[in-house]
Amino acid sequence: SQLIARRVRECGVFSELLPHHVGAEEVRRRRPKGLILSGGPASVYAEGAPALERELLELGIPVLGICYGMQLIALDQGGKVEGAEVGEYGRSTLTVSEPGRLLALKRYGALDTAREQNFDAITSIVCSVLDVPICAVTLLDETRQWFKSSVGLNCTETARDVAFCDHTIRGREVMLIEDATRDPRFVDNALVIGEPEIRSYAGAPLVTPDGYQLGALCAIDRKPRNFDAAQVAILERFSKLVVEQLELQTLAHNDFLTGALTRRAFTSAATAAVGQNRRDRTPAALLALDLDHFKRVNDSHGHGAGDEVLKAVADVCSASLRPGDLFGRLGGEEFAVLLPATAFADAARCAERLRSEIERLKLPYGTVTASFGLAMVEDYDAFDDWMEAADGALYRAKSEGRNRWVADERILRAA
Ligand code: GH3
Ligand code: MG
Ligand code: MG
Repeated sequence: SQLIARRVRECGVFSELLPHHVGAEEVRRRRPKGLILSGGPASVYAEGAPALERELLELGIPVLGICYGMQLIALDQGGKVEGAEVGEYGRSTLTVSEPGRLLALKRYGALDTAREQNFDAITSIVCSVLDVPICAVTLLDETRQWFKSSVGLNCTETARDVAFCDHTIRGREVMLIEDATRDPRFVDNALVIGEPEIRSYAGAPLVTPDGYQLGALCAIDRKPRNFDAAQVAILERFSKLVVEQLELQTLAHNDFLTGALTRRAFTSAATAAVGQNRRDRTPAALLALDLDHFKRVNDSHGHGAGDEVLKAVADVCSASLRPGDLFGRLGGEEFAVLLPATAFADAARCAERLRSEIERLKLPYGTVTASFGLAMVEDYDAFDDWMEAADGALYRAKSEGRNRWVADERILRAA
């Protein structure tokens, strides 16, 4: 354990060893950026650690890996550990946690998005520089590999169990296959026997700054061949570029503190909902949300505490909403929720549910409440007017005593 701790420190990351029996509460109190879990011998791990891991994931603390035969290691800010290297010490092995990886993948929100020129430029350059007919940026979810960009492939995804990249993401190094027909792992693979008849493969894992492998940048040929050191280095460089690109996109789309959509991303989605309503009368509801007396939290407990409250409120809202709903931070302690294809009665229930869940939040700084304004898309022709109406209702919720939701006057008039 001491060796591992030293190795983690050498990676430039603060780390500490916590006792075997540490619980999620203690970990939550220490707020690490990420964790490597260990449950002792593999047999013990099999019983105890998965439950702890689930608990940690629910708290939003990513589990970077799992060590067998050691203690728990917490990684502080900017945690980055080279899994393979850590695993070399002692008899320990480190496997990257799949639930944590899937959560990280979700955070980037890149799955099933449109083609983008930035990624297409990378795959086409890799094709020319490595002289291959096929190149792809793959992202792996539970069941499939999905192509963010590809050259030379005529599908957008394949099942995960035939994906070469599923092997690549188990390590940190470029995976090289000279001739798939002579590799027992791939000899009877559908992508080798049939289209696109893969023979050789070079794949660099897409490793996020917090240590998860989301997928791979891969170069593929239909004939057996080697890739030399310079080509491997190029592929690695470009795989880092792909991750940087994904990072930049999340910065533009998601608020850094709370993970909610930025004002800009939220506005563009809500503007689309206005257009949709004009075309086919699809209803949609907008909730404006402002924390009550939030200044007092900052004044009595400091700005750091205020930030924690903002994050906790955002977490409880995100967890409470349906997958298609959108949650944005419009500024400071003001948020907004877009409920697509939702009529007034359901939107009202949602507002009441969010209100009560925020009120019931257990925080070290006492309770926090929020006020809401609710407006329906069908009453407005432009996003700005719709938002202004929700804000107007919110203002009335404040003046009527806070910790409540109020509907826009036009809803009341129509009813
Ligand atoms: P009301 O119930 O009327 O909304 O009262 P309030 O105190 O919430 O309203 P006010 O708008 O006066 O104060 C908002 C406070 O939110 C002021 C500002 O210091 C704080 N705030 C805005 N953004 C952040 C942030 O990112 N972090 C922290 N900690 N505080 C923030
Ligand atoms: Mg406020
Ligand atoms: Mg405010």
